[in-house]
Amino acid sequence: MAKEELECSFCGRKKPETNLLIAGLDAHICDRCIEQAHGIVIEESKQTDSGDLSAELKLRKPLQIKEFLDEYIIGQGMTKKVMSVAVYNHYKRLLQPPTNDDIEIQKSNIIMVGQTGTGKTLMAKTIAKMLNVPLAIVDATVLTEAGYVGEDVESILTRLLQAADYNLEKAEKGIVFIDEIDKIARKSDNPSITRDVSGEGVQQALLKLLEGTVVNVPPKGGRKHPDQKFIEVNTENILFIAGGAFDGIDRVISKRLNMQAVGYSASISDDVVDKDNLLQYIIPKDLKDFGLIPEIIGRLPVLTYMDPLDAKTLRAILTQPKNAIIKQYKKLFTMDDVDFAITDGALDFIVGKAIEYKLGARGLRSLCEEILTDAMFELPSSNDKKLNVTKAYAEEKLTKTTIKKLKAVS
Ligand code: ADP
Repeated sequence: MAKEELECSFCGRKKPETNLLIAGLDAHICDRCIEQAHGIVIEESKQTDSGDLSAELKLRKPLQIKEFLDEYIIGQGMTKKVMSVAVYNHYKRLLQPPTNDDIEIQKSNIIMVGQTGTGKTLMAKTIAKMLNVPLAIVDATVLTEAGYVGEDVESILTRLLQAADYNLEKAEKGIVFIDEIDKIARKSDNPSITRDVSGEGVQQALLKLLEGTVVNVPPKGGRKHPDQKFIEVNTENILFIAGGAFDGIDRVISKRLNMQAVGYSASISDDVVDKDNLLQYIIPKDLKDFGLIPEIIGRLPVLTYMDPLDAKTLRAILTQPKNAIIKQYKKLFTMDDVDFAITDGALDFIVGKAIEYKLGARGLRSLCEEILTDAMFELPSSNDKKLNVTKAYAEEKLTKTTIKKLKAVS
């Protein structure tokens, strides 16, 4: 064959159209095809790695799971512990070889009760990151019973499939975080009242998923449509984590505790009740009194609570987690060779404002953003390569109007 007639055996490009053509025994390959093939090899190896849950579990016992959570989440010791055990057991159940005994380990779906911004979503995200499984975060408020305006509960699984890049096997071992589960509570305590669309009906529909069943899922989401092809998703091994603020549940708990205290079987007497954090006494019955149906509560057997974030915790959130907000800013400034520092006084000031204006942990980021925007705008093109944020600096940048703005969006 004349030299100029050589071509890539994969894509057919002639030698002059390539940058490089490598000869094999009976074939040639061009630089582009090598790059493409390399990409495929990387993708493939990623897929097999991430499927290896057992390796993750061998590495991490509940204690190590908690240690991992500690790197990203401040406080919330009780939830971390409960979560570590639940996740460990869930995946142990998933990896167990079939046995002949009749002992069937049931799913350990979890429900977390706690004010917004206390880290519920972060908890689910961190677990998914650790296990390297897909995570779908869905808002229960958008769900409705089939036939009503809104999304069918199956859409939850569409999200999971999307998070798993449509790899069914991965999706079936994934995690679903259902936020705002409290918003689908029955509005009235009287079950005989006409069914409310957003509440009990959705709970009933969710039940099916939580139980473990094969669901026909429209891969593109949206309403079920007769012509659409479905993907059959088995939810048996999907870990469901529900979260909600359950505003007002403290009254339910307090009422129950008071009743207990007057009864002769008083287990928690008034003087030991920590009134600032009543959630720690939550029991499944409180969820029922709040309006969750008993069947749903039964399918979310692991009940845990989030502590409210006090100043100490907020302060730690700013600086301690692996990807703490302040660490992120430091990294951003370093990229522009700016030496960034922030004083304890400034950090306390930020925390103080977050508490004063009830902005919670989410507000910390917006406060920092407001304080640092001018510097992030100016310093990259300035010769001044040092930034020391003091309390006075923070105060100057944070005017009343900006705080009002933050309050409005939080
Ligand atoms: P929730 O789901 O309870 O409403 P999120 O998990 O969305 O709260 O928390 C909002 C943000 O606040 C998170 O992205 C995280 O940066 C921060 N945050 C909240 N709680 C914690 C915590 N305990 N530790 C670290 N960061 C936290």
